[in-house]
Formats: sequence, structure tokens, C-alpha cells
Amino acid sequence: MTTALITGITGQDGSYLTELLIGKGYAVHGVVRRSSIIDRQRIDHLTRDPAIYHKQLFLHYCDLNDITTLRRILNKVQPDEFYHLAGQSHVGLSFEIPESTCEFTAMATLRILEVLRDMDQVPRFLTTGSSEIFGAAAESPQTEWTAMRPTSPYGVAKSFAVNITRVYREAFGMFACTAICYNHESERRSPNFVTRKISRAVAAIAAGGVETLKLGNLDVWRDWGYAPEYVDAMWRMLQADQPEDLIVATGILTSLEQFLDAAFAHAGLSWRDHVEIDQRLIRPSEPQRLVGDPSRAARTIGWHARTSAVELARKLVTADRLLPEQELVAV
Ligand code: GDP
Repeated sequence: MTTALITGITGQDGSYLTELLIGKGYAVHGVVRRSSIIDRQRIDHLTRDPAIYHKQLFLHYCDLNDITTLRRILNKVQPDEFYHLAGQSHVGLSFEIPESTCEFTAMATLRILEVLRDMDQVPRFLTTGSSEIFGAAAESPQTEWTAMRPTSPYGVAKSFAVNITRVYREAFGMFACTAICYNHESERRSPNFVTRKISRAVAAIAAGGVETLKLGNLDVWRDWGYAPEYVDAMWRMLQADQPEDLIVATGILTSLEQFLDAAFAHAGLSWRDHVEIDQRLIRPSEPQRLVGDPSRAARTIGWHARTSAVELARKLVTADRLLPEQELVAV
């Protein structure tokens, strides 16, 4: 049985990756933060399943700044693969909490690499980068060779994580790589990301609960894909013969207005009747357009995104319209 250890197992990607690995017969160990509020909604269906929990899925308490505990867990579990997905994942929030964003996203990656380097059997290591490392990108689409020019503390922290992972790969010969993921969303995305904020608002407006959706900058273009497909790319990267950083993206640029069109139209609505601009939601600086070139991932790991941004918008609206009305309070 192959053994994997995942940080960030309760997040969107962590939960999908866990399902994928359990389906492949892995033993999956997840590292969870100790806190007074237990937020494990995304993996509840797995921890409630007696055929899975404590048989194929195991959870361990550990904060990522508690390195002695992480070392103990690693020595006990001896994973073959280590997926480091934890971190402060919100770009807008990173302007308000820059220091902890760098602590959780940059420094935690370095600490983990340091512990792994000391192990007798070093597991294969993957972490997730972000299109935000390219920020004010000098070229479009971005490739694995595009210069990093981040425009947010989050982007800076992720640039550090990508670079330190590369340095450990090159300097110590570790099988360590980064999936440079563009925006990837799902029914499990938290509603402080714009896609899910929109789909929930569409469901609430269609149900007659609210009338308006407040948004920030609408003049943005992104490369939005479907998260379950992205965790498959992560897994494939750790099965490759050689470790290498890869862009994981759809390769298609979509404007936020096009996403709004698709989401509102799916419920027979027009976003222009409901969207208001709230200046407080506009970020101090941000990339205007980001689109990845996924051709290297297609060549080396045979991965292709299958869901377009328009399909994604419809999928999220369909799912959110099934939610009870009280869950649809706009954020
Ligand atoms: P990000 O690309 O990782 O920052 O993902 P988000 O979903 O948070 O934001 C995507 C884009 O939508 C960014 O350019 C935001 O500035 C823009 N945006 C516009 N209004 C909003 C809003 O109300 N909330 C969020 N989260 N983003 C917004």
C-alpha cells in the first residue's frame, strides 16, 4: 500500500486529493491544525465512513510551525509521497495579514523540506504554487520559464515556496516539485473566492432572498479550471520519472464579466441588474490578466484540463441552487 501524507487535507484540494488517493488504494495521512472550532466539513463524508476512517485515512494534529511534532509524525508514518497543500490561500487577505501569509506559505514549506531532507527514506514532495507568482507578467500565456513578478504578499510567499523547492531539488537531489496551479474552483471552494461568491449569490437571488451582489474589480481576466482535475495533475507529477515544476491550467483566458454572464444566465438572470461595485473589495494591486500554458504538463504527465470556465460557472450555480436558503447568505 502506498502511503501519502497531506498538509491542508481539510481544504478544497486536500479533500479531492484524499478521495483520489483512497480510490487508488493509498493509505492517506492528513495533518490537521489543532483549534477550538473543528472545521472538517470537506472530509466529513470520509471520516464518517468506517470502511475508510482508521483503515485508509488517518488524521494527526500538527501545526506547521511545530516542527518536532511534524518530525515525529513523519517518522511514524514514513510516507512515500508528501503533498504540502496547507497555507493561507487568499490573495486579498494577504494584504491584511502579510506576515502570517509568508509564515504559513513560505516558511512552512522551507521547514518541511528541512525535515524531509534528514529522513533516511526521503518521500517524494509536491507543493502548490500559484499563477500569482507571475503577477504583472511580462508575457502571456505564462510558461514554466516566465519570470516571477508577484503583485501581492501571497504571490511573494508562493514565489519563495517555488524557488526553495527547486533549490532543494537541485542542491540535495530531492524528488521535490511544484504544481504551479492557476485558479481552480469547485463546489467546495470557500465563498470568499469570487467564483463561489458569485454562484451563491446567483442562487440566493434566484430564490428571492437577496437582490444585490457586491464585487470589487471587474476588469480582471483569469484562467479558471475545475479543482478535482488539478489534484489529478498533482498526483501524476509525483509518479513521473523526474521531478519538475509544471504549469497546471486550462490555457484559456476568461474575463470576470464572462464568468458573471455564464453564472447569472444559468438561472435566467442578468448580472447587470444585480451587481454593485464596492470600493472596499478592490485590492491595492493585482494582476489584470493571468493565463497559463499547460502544454508541458500535457507532454510530460499527459494531463489536460477538461472543464471550461463557462461550464464551471454553470456547475457551481447548479450545485448552489440545491443548498438550503439559509446557507446562501451573501458574503
Ligand atoms: P485569486 O485570483 O486567487 O485572487 O482568486 P479570487 O477568486 O479571490 O479573485 C479573482 C479575481 O476576482 C481577483 O482579480 C479579484 O480582485 C476579483 N474580484 C472582484 N470582486 C471580488 C470579490 O468580491 N471577492 C473576491 N474574492 N474577488 C473579487
